[in-house]
This record gives sequence, C-alpha cells and structure tokens, in this order.
Amino acid sequence: MEKCRKRTWTIKESYADDLFTDGRQGICLNCGEIGQFAEPDAREYTCYCCGCKTLYGFEEAIVEMYIEVVPDGTPV
Ligand SMILES: [Zn+2]
Repeated sequence: MEKCRKRTWTIKESYADDLFTDGRQGICLNCGEIGQFAEPDAREYTCYCCGCKTLYGFEEAIVEMYIEVVPDGTPV
C-alpha cells in the first residue's frame, strides 16, 4: 500500500487569491499538486499525480485548515 497522508501546505497570498477566485482548482494534500479540476467543496478525490484520495477543492482545503496562507514576500 502506498502511503497517503494529508499535510499542511503553505501558499503565498497572491497565489491563494488566484486559486480562490478561479474556484475550480484542487490541491492534493499528499503531494501538493495544484491545478487538477475540483469543485471548491470537493473532498477526497483521487489525485492523478500520486493516486491518493487526497485531492481537495481549494476552498475546502482552507476551511479544513490544510492550507496556510502567508503574505507575499514571506520566506517559505
Ligand atoms: Zn497527489
């Protein structure tokens, strides 16, 4: 069995704004891949990149506290 875990991702404010505004971009909480289609409230979709069921809608990921948004210019 492959290991799938949900981790927290740090994203810069301006990029987060873009993703939030777009509203159709998911983020994989396992591998961090961004850009796969997912509704804002999507949960546990399968990520094409790593095969884990950890693809979340961007909004949902924020609500569930998997995404930490930091101001632009913050070293990550
Ligand atoms: Zn993935």
